[in-house]
Amino acid sequence: MNQLIVNPMTVSGAAAGEGLQQPVVAIIGGGVSGAATAFHLALSNQSPAPQIIVFEPRTCLGKGLAYDTTEPAHRINVPAARMSLLTDEPDHFLRWITAHSATAGDDEALRPDGALFPRRSVFGDYVNAMLQPLVAAGSVQHRRSAVAHVLRDGPRWSIIGDDGAQTWADIVVIATSHPPPVAPGQLQAVLKDHPRFVADPTKAGALAAIRPSDRVLVVGNGLTSADVIAALALKGHQGPITAISRRGLRSRGHAPVAQDPAGDFVTEPAFTARALLKNIRTAIRQAGADGRTWHGVIDQVRAQGQALWQVLPLVERQRIVRHLRPFWDVHRFRVAPQVEAALDAAIAEGRLEILAGSVAASRIEADAIHCTLRLRRGPTPVEKTYDAVVVTTGPGHGGILGSQPFLAELSHNGYLELDPTGLGLFCTRNSEAIGPVVGVTPSLLIAGPLARGTFGELMGLPQVTDHAVLVAARIAECLQAHTPTTAQNQL
Ligand SMILES: Cc1cc2nc3c(=O)[nH]c(=O)nc-3n(C[C@H](O)[C@H](O)[C@H](O)COP(=O)(O)OP(=O)(O)OC[C@H]3O[C@@H](n4cnc5c(N)ncnc54)[C@H](O)[C@@H]3O)c2cc1C
Repeated sequence: MNQLIVNPMTVSGAAAGEGLQQPVVAIIGGGVSGAATAFHLALSNQSPAPQIIVFEPRTCLGKGLAYDTTEPAHRINVPAARMSLLTDEPDHFLRWITAHSATAGDDEALRPDGALFPRRSVFGDYVNAMLQPLVAAGSVQHRRSAVAHVLRDGPRWSIIGDDGAQTWADIVVIATSHPPPVAPGQLQAVLKDHPRFVADPTKAGALAAIRPSDRVLVVGNGLTSADVIAALALKGHQGPITAISRRGLRSRGHAPVAQDPAGDFVTEPAFTARALLKNIRTAIRQAGADGRTWHGVIDQVRAQGQALWQVLPLVERQRIVRHLRPFWDVHRFRVAPQVEAALDAAIAEGRLEILAGSVAASRIEADAIHCTLRLRRGPTPVEKTYDAVVVTTGPGHGGILGSQPFLAELSHNGYLELDPTGLGLFCTRNSEAIGPVVGVTPSLLIAGPLARGTFGELMGLPQVTDHAVLVAARIAECLQAHTPTTAQNQL
């Protein structure tokens, strides 16, 4: 285990005296994972209290990619009752919404079955509101810069932001989660300068250039695709839309009536992908026979996802990622009912077609984008013309190590490597980074979805909160094991 020594000059600008016994925890990324880790660590009453610095270039802590959006069509895709920052109070967000009238004026938020699906920004406001008292009290610092370099220097970490400022830390947490999407190479090469080629629809105003009657090709069919189609509908887009993905699978909606979790996948766990699939199918058949839908079964698989994932041998995990992931994704990532209604309306009006296939080639003539679509079923490629192309293939987690200089640097120096499933960063079950050269680094932790290769289901709430609690507890343990003494501080 690497030695953890508390640095007397831990942070640039630390007040004299204050820094003497104060270890520094640097959290890179202040989305939900980073903010929740900071929140739970700050409330864990460490003595001495660590200095918690969250590096996050966004204006607000706690929003991140998913919730830092003002687009009204963007809604949470898990009912509010299941999204909480407090593991022992699952309805905390729901109560916060009520206390702050946070859905006032949004008549569509409450569904007929009583479930609440507010706009995504509301959840971001909630997480931010939870952090604010800690920021005001100085327990958590928000450093508004993007980390450019992280280098090991003796027992500590040297962190350099894109503003050039250097910070020393004893523990570093990587919570940067979602890298930008990677557009298919041919599209990127040919269309990159076209005014209506949207390579990253998560950027604010990304759809602004699309005109009401434009013919739109959406590449991808998951939740981001659904967001894009719903957002276009809300701004009055009337043109035809083609959504294409390899299998043409569309994210499913929620059950018309809330379903209790059903099935048991841990008492007698499956040890192969095939056996797991069989168990899930059996449970779904059973649910159907009992007059229930598949939703409760998938919810149970999700709730037990970490336990069942961890007994699977690596080769079976890889098999799941290779063969079952697209099917899992469309059942597990469900569209909010309001978004589903927008998609259903577009299909019913004949404005939206969903195709299984890929874009084989594209070219620009005048302003029009001509695409050759290779369909999964059908012998010959189809030629189609569009005015806009939007890439919604989602964050490129497989390319995470090359997505940012500091991650590439940590990988180059042997501290990080891709998880063998390709889902994120390799780490232990304590969420400590594992590198090809250095092995386990207890002072370098991974928080949030980037750890899901090890943990299994870890993409949305409540698992993201649970994982932040685990990471915060691990940091607390690490700090306690190395409680500084005056002598150490004078080293
Ligand atoms: C579009 C979208 C919608 C979603 N909707 C839901 C939902 O409704 N319900 C649900 O349960 N889950 C949802 N999810 C799943 C989502 O993974 C989690 O809910 C959660 O938002 C993950 O947060 P995070 O902090 O791990 O990641 P992110 O949101 O990706 O946050 C990472 C943060 O790191 C920052 N960062 C990146 N690089 C650096 C750097 N070098 N230095 C400093 N900071 C950096 C970024 O600015 C960003 O704010 C959604 C995901 C996406 C992508």
